[in-house]
Amino acid sequence: MTQMISCQSETDKTVLTHYMSLPQDKDTVMVEYIWVDIDGDGLRCKCKIFDFVPEKASGQNSRYSCAQTMKLVEDSHPWFGIEQEYLILDANGHPFGWPKNGFPRPQGPYHFSVGYNKAFGRDIVEAHFKACIYAGVKICGGNAEALPAQWEFQIGPCEGVEAGDQLWIARYILFRLTEDFRVTITLDPKPIPGDWNGSGGHTNFSTAAMREEGGLKFIEEAIEKLRNKHDEHIVLYDPNEGKDNARRLIGSHETSNIKDFCAGVENRLASVRIPRQVANEKKGYLEDRRPSSNCDPYIVCDLLCKTCILD
Ligand code: ADP
Ligand code: MN
Ligand code: MN
Ligand code: MN
Repeated sequence: MTQMISCQSETDKTVLTHYMSLPQDKDTVMVEYIWVDIDGDGLRCKCKIFDFVPEKASGQNSRYSCAQTMKLVEDSHPWFGIEQEYLILDANGHPFGWPKNGFPRPQGPYHFSVGYNKAFGRDIVEAHFKACIYAGVKICGGNAEALPAQWEFQIGPCEGVEAGDQLWIARYILFRLTEDFRVTITLDPKPIPGDWNGSGGHTNFSTAAMREEGGLKFIEEAIEKLRNKHDEHIVLYDPNEGKDNARRLIGSHETSNIKDFCAGVENRLASVRIPRQVANEKKGYLEDRRPSSNCDPYIVCDLLCKTCILD
């Protein structure tokens, strides 16, 4: 694996606590501006210090388009819950906790695991939960994933454009934490080639009609619309026009094949899954398993509404 960062010296992170405790004039605010980088995967930020609380600023293009669509469909009350999978790497870009020369034992024991030899990096995961809750981010859970050092968190359910806002900020907080923990995070959808799971951005979606009694009918209708637009969705479900997802959606490792659309109850090899409980209750939501871990959630949510509600 290639050398990414070479750390010759490190600061003692606890020293910052002292500076953070210095009294600050009550009218002074430090405002962190966060924006999505052009490649759709990265985030950038800069700090401005004001003696007033500034107006909200938003300029992201995909957010603008998503917000416009959400205005058109607001009577349908679209809800989203997004599952963000990611892999933790060490400072050298090597999967965190993996043996330095070789691979850990094959997949099987890691998914939802607990224990020193199975779950690598839980301190980072729990710090992320706490920081998100503190920041008011609508994080609703998380778990260790199938690939060792791979984790997932979920946000939602959120209505409209807010889903994208919540996910981008949760990603920002995760990347920001890596500065303290001296690890890195990759959102690449197939970070380790071969017999190792990739990372997804499963997007759970419902409208008011789907959530009401007998809503399964509307879920099934939406699935047929998604089937007809499969290729258009694939092109926009990763930042690289489907090329990133082509490495992940291979019809195994809990993914569907990128070329075929298929749907089913509790089917983790499907493009779109109807969760077991939703099939039983005949109402709820669908899970689109195709978006990649590095997807732009504004684009995914925008497209789901265009296809399932506006078409
Ligand atoms: P999985 O079984 O696929 O791992 P998770 O428990 O990880 O599912 O995630 C479920 C997601 O579904 C959460 O993000 C949650 O907010 C979201 N969700 C739950 N109910 C709804 C709903 N009615 N509409 C949209 N999203 C929902
Ligand atoms: Mn999940
Ligand atoms: Mn998962
Ligand atoms: Mn899922």
